[in-house]
Amino acid sequence: MLTEAHRLAQSAIGRAVLAELGEDLLSDAVVDLALEARGKSDAVAARYYAAFRQAEGIADGFVLGEADPLAPATARERIADAANRFGQGPGEVVRVVLGGGRDRLARSLGADSRAIGWQRVCSSSCCSFCAMLAGRGAVYRSARAAGDGRGYHRSCACTVEPVFRRGTPLPARSQVFADLYDEAGSFDAFKVAFRERAEA
Ligand SMILES: [Zn+2]
Repeated sequence: MLTEAHRLAQSAIGRAVLAELGEDLLSDAVVDLALEARGKSDAVAARYYAAFRQAEGIADGFVLGEADPLAPATARERIADAANRFGQGPGEVVRVVLGGGRDRLARSLGADSRAIGWQRVCSSSCCSFCAMLAGRGAVYRSARAAGDGRGYHRSCACTVEPVFRRGTPLPARSQVFADLYDEAGSFDAFKVAFRERAEA
């Protein structure tokens, strides 16, 4: 429940920024707006991580990891690049914004000796790649080197949930994705099944 509320709060932060975007995505105003919202995303994620730990009954004075600050020039470059090369400027704005919270979670997970891993949590309208990752469930720390669970698409509103215990069940939606993947047997077949399910 905490994770779903957090995911929705992050998604709303992204959508609020999208609603304010005009034609010029590279203006100072847009960069300021995105970085301000990134700060909000960071703060919301920090509260979530602390609340999640508390709900898991873990009380040990853990200090959250700090998110990476993003320089305005870097944010502008990323947005310009996505707009010019892929026509996905607004999606990159969302990624800049939600990166605040994602960085906070990744840093906190990295610094948290009690967390054994994380799992990706998606909306029902996410892409097939995210759904596949969500269906895999917990990615344990040992898999970190592979970079699992750290990449996000533009416009993607997925998040991660820390995992503190082995055998933590999948969220219901992730279980649906896992079952669909099992049935499909391969990512290619899963993509088809996932699309058909979305259109049904
Ligand atoms: Zn996603």
